[in-house]
Amino acid sequence: MPKKGFNTTNLHSDRRDNPEHGVLHKAIHPSVAYGYEDARELAEVFQGKRAGYNYGRQLNPTVTALQNKITAMEDGIATAAFATGMAAIASTMLSLLRQGDHIVSSAYLFGNTNSLFGTFQNLGIEVTFVDATDVNKVQAAIRGNTRLVFVETIANPVTQIADLTAIGALCKSENLIFCVDNTMTSPHLFRPKSVGASFSVNSLTKYIGGHGNALGGTITDTGLYDWTGFANIYDNYKSQDTALWGITQVKKKGLRDIGASLGPEAAHHLAVGSETLSLRMDKACNNAQKIAEFCEQHPKVKQVYYPGLPAHPQHERAKKLFKGFGSIMSIDLVAGVDCFDVLNAMENIVSSSNLGDTRTLAIPVAHTIYYEMGAERRASMGIADSMLRFSIGIEEAEDLLADFEKALT
Ligand SMILES: *Cc1c(COP(=O)(O)O)cnc(C)c1O
Repeated sequence: MPKKGFNTTNLHSDRRDNPEHGVLHKAIHPSVAYGYEDARELAEVFQGKRAGYNYGRQLNPTVTALQNKITAMEDGIATAAFATGMAAIASTMLSLLRQGDHIVSSAYLFGNTNSLFGTFQNLGIEVTFVDATDVNKVQAAIRGNTRLVFVETIANPVTQIADLTAIGALCKSENLIFCVDNTMTSPHLFRPKSVGASFSVNSLTKYIGGHGNALGGTITDTGLYDWTGFANIYDNYKSQDTALWGITQVKKKGLRDIGASLGPEAAHHLAVGSETLSLRMDKACNNAQKIAEFCEQHPKVKQVYYPGLPAHPQHERAKKLFKGFGSIMSIDLVAGVDCFDVLNAMENIVSSSNLGDTRTLAIPVAHTIYYEMGAERRASMGIADSMLRFSIGIEEAEDLLADFEKALT
């Protein structure tokens, strides 16, 4: 059968799995435990000789259905879901890395991931932060004990775009795990597998769920990494299919031992949200482009950060890699314009920390999400005190432009 399109595949995936009563959505299964008529079957499930459910921390049918959707979106081989995006990142790293290992990370990083990598350094996993827009900086940081390279697609809030293609090729030649946080682009705009990524991370909380009503995160194995050459896989997880070694260890060590599991209700909300991912993202990208162009010519705006503008340093790269330029847009205000006054004058745009919502949200980054980081690290990431980050939603563009017009005047 020919491969179906992104939306067709997603919209019909639940019903193709023989659901009870012919329901179109996978049911919300709240059961934590599962009964077996034959106790031998239960044992076989535990031993991995038979597919089945044993305990809700490791597996849940509603969560499995969502994992399958994400695997299809990413064109991967398997996905593990977690309670949040941070849980997905932390559990993956903690299950695959050991004391004495080294990772190279983009310096342009989601604030909490940055904080987590700081924790790793105190646990004996070394981290070198580099400017990942330049593959040479990544290459120069690689050492004998380097195991993994971690980058985001479009970085928040300055919208730098890592040199994904070249880093993918570098990781392949150095046999390193290439972990791409795809949250800002989502699998609608970009598939990390296309640049050789080993893993794609998605915070489902953002664009995939899309409505700010459920937390969740996933890690998808693209099937490209050769786990047989990776020293940290436990013998127990070296199954017949070598492609599954990594994700099995993430599910066993990361999900089971750490236990940051996604609940079935959240999985249902996220799955329903995902049905309109491509429609919402296209509209939000369109809106963001219009607003970025408006801000670019506005005298109160000193600088606009949006990959869709030809003046953006990685505009050509973004055009080549992504189906759209995303819906994160940041601005620096000229001296004398107060960022709080601008936000307070907005009517439709909400002062709020989330992103990827249907509603347009805005935040003064230096004073909130990047506050704890300190002035020095903020400066190194190009974050000015007056910077405002917008996560553009799907409202009518005219209503959003009217807010900018009013607030900047
Ligand atoms: C929000 C976010 C995360 C973390 O996701 P949560 O679901 O909030 O834990 C990770 N990476 C990026 C790029 C994000 O924007």
